[in-house]
Amino acid sequence: MKAVLDHIGIAVRNLDEALAFYRDALGLPVEAHEDVESQGVRASFLPAGGVELELLEATAPESPIARYLEKHGPGLHHITLRVEDIAAALARLKARGVRLIDETPRNGASGSLVAFVHPSSAHGVLVELKQVLYTEKPREA
Ligand code: ZN
Repeated sequence: MKAVLDHIGIAVRNLDEALAFYRDALGLPVEAHEDVESQGVRASFLPAGGVELELLEATAPESPIARYLEKHGPGLHHITLRVEDIAAALARLKARGVRLIDETPRNGASGSLVAFVHPSSAHGVLVELKQVLYTEKPREA
């Protein structure tokens, strides 16, 4: 199974304040903003080499990010590994007794399938697997 680091998700209390650091102070460009209403989350993606930082702000009190912030405060929320065949990856992990949050992939952002591995099986890290089905827009490397 080949896996490539796709992005690192960071839970923030305030997206504008986080952008003041990551974009303005560090100088990282913002490639995309995304509003995922169903998840109660808005996000900004900042490319940093071959990997992106995803800044996540809660927009609803019951969103997973709001609950995370309540429990842990702001900080590293998840890492996302890109795989070629997410169904095969999940089957492989399941066969090894890995605890999965998503047993089957669900639709992610911009034409992707995603599934989360439980942090208890990933040594304390929430791991997201992602398979890109198609690219909506050409991306610079
Ligand atoms: Zn993410």
